[in-house]
Amino acid sequence: MTDGQNPFSRQERVVVIGAGLSGSLAAVYLARHGYLVDVYERRPDPRTAPAGLGGRSINLGLSARGMRALDEVGLLADVLKRSVPMRGRVVHSPDGAVRFQPYGVREHEILHSVLRDELIALLVDAAETSAGVRFHFGWRLNRLDRDTATVEVLSEAGGDPVEVGADLVVGADGIHSVVRQHLQRGLRADYSQEFLEWGYKELTIPVGDDGEPRVRLEALHVWPGESAMMVAHPNVDGSLTCSLFMPHEGPVSFATLDTPEAVLGFFRANFADAEELMPNLVEEIAGHPVGHLVTVRTAPWRHGDRVVLIGDAAHAVVPFYGQGMNSAFEDCLVLSDCLARHTDRAAALAAFEAARKPHTDVLADLSIANFVDLRDRVHKPGYTAHAVADRLLSRLMPDRWTPLYTMVAHTTTPYADALARAKRQDRILRGATAAAGALAALGAVTTIGAALRRRSRGR
Ligand SMILES: Cc1cc2nc3c(=O)[nH]c(=O)nc-3n(C[C@H](O)[C@H](O)[C@H](O)COP(=O)(O)OP(=O)(O)OC[C@H]3O[C@@H](n4cnc5c(N)ncnc54)[C@H](O)[C@@H]3O)c2cc1C
Repeated sequence: MTDGQNPFSRQERVVVIGAGLSGSLAAVYLARHGYLVDVYERRPDPRTAPAGLGGRSINLGLSARGMRALDEVGLLADVLKRSVPMRGRVVHSPDGAVRFQPYGVREHEILHSVLRDELIALLVDAAETSAGVRFHFGWRLNRLDRDTATVEVLSEAGGDPVEVGADLVVGADGIHSVVRQHLQRGLRADYSQEFLEWGYKELTIPVGDDGEPRVRLEALHVWPGESAMMVAHPNVDGSLTCSLFMPHEGPVSFATLDTPEAVLGFFRANFADAEELMPNLVEEIAGHPVGHLVTVRTAPWRHGDRVVLIGDAAHAVVPFYGQGMNSAFEDCLVLSDCLARHTDRAAALAAFEAARKPHTDVLADLSIANFVDLRDRVHKPGYTAHAVADRLLSRLMPDRWTPLYTMVAHTTTPYADALARAKRQDRILRGATAAAGALAALGAVTTIGAALRRRSRGR
């Protein structure tokens, strides 16, 4: 669809619950289908409220899937203007050594760091300029009648609940979705919520006293570690926002960072070069909340032609593949395609769930597996050799060999298809490694045998 087109002009009413990342972009897409869209968001308007979402990660890595969904509605160029390109990872070792690893082998294989609030504000602006879209900030969903698509909303300022009727309700209300609860209540619904034993805290690397960034800006900075790890995304103003990941409880945990000495001792032992970059470290550790890391798997995502879930409400993942927002944006694109292809809305919603759920389930597994890899395996020699071989093969045969990370972050190959292809490549690589090992062993045996024969002849 191109700007201003409105090929459907349904004049049906959609209520979107949640003006976060997925709800705001969904409003843009739905307006293009000719729906009248009312978005209810319990928080204040991000364009006027102070920045920051109470400890939620304040900047995010945008990659291929999210970029495609933004591009489809003409918003990508504006978003990229407000983001910082990240061309690779700068890995900081415990001894202070630093090395740069490019993200991909091709020029476009980079990520973009963008502030959550700024991105939402841009999406809200774009949606509001579309005909038929209205945002209601400071209003929270209280109740939903899933059979009639009627919602009851409450103003955060107080007063009586207000009932709003619609043809379709889109639940974009995040991980603790109230829409999901009402959609599934009393039905044979699957729901699982899995907390990671690790949490996260947001910290900052401010701009230096000279006004310049304290570290290389166009990269994701990573401090890996088995008992804690930290990543830092760059901001347009030259500062970086760090997420410190570590266990909630235990000998090395957020619970033990309870004095300035404990904080400084921990950073010196684990992230040697970080302390001098973070002048507000002690105050921020004491003052910032610890966030939870949760995976949500659930079904169904829809009810007849009346209710559908998107984004974290349908499939929340832990952030170690940086795909939560990207997959939420991809939901908006796929939902829009399904609505365009099916005149029967129930069929469209069924097609949407069928198209997405197998892949977001795989993303959930991949995200947890990547956490385990980052924590336990990434420093081990065998893992590094495998990763190097994977990258080398993709350089040598770019059309025939693509590492899993590249497929997930830099392509729009559906997640399950990416995993299936990566497993095939893995089998080939392991087979080749085993064959090379066998040849090397055979060579070694032959050499040793020849040496032994020479020695016995010499006796
Ligand atoms: C530490 C961390 C780092 C991350 N990094 C990345 C990254 O680099 N890349 C990436 O792609 N993803 C990342 N993510 C994931 C990403 O933040 C989420 O996947 C994304 O926010 C999901 O968007 P959403 O709109 O579905 O949900 P949300 O962003 O949670 O938005 C839901 C909205 O609904 C509103 N709401 C909730 N309940 C109600 C109600 N009853 N009535 C009205 N409104 C309501 C909320 O106020 C909120 O505004 C990260 C997550 C974390 C925790």
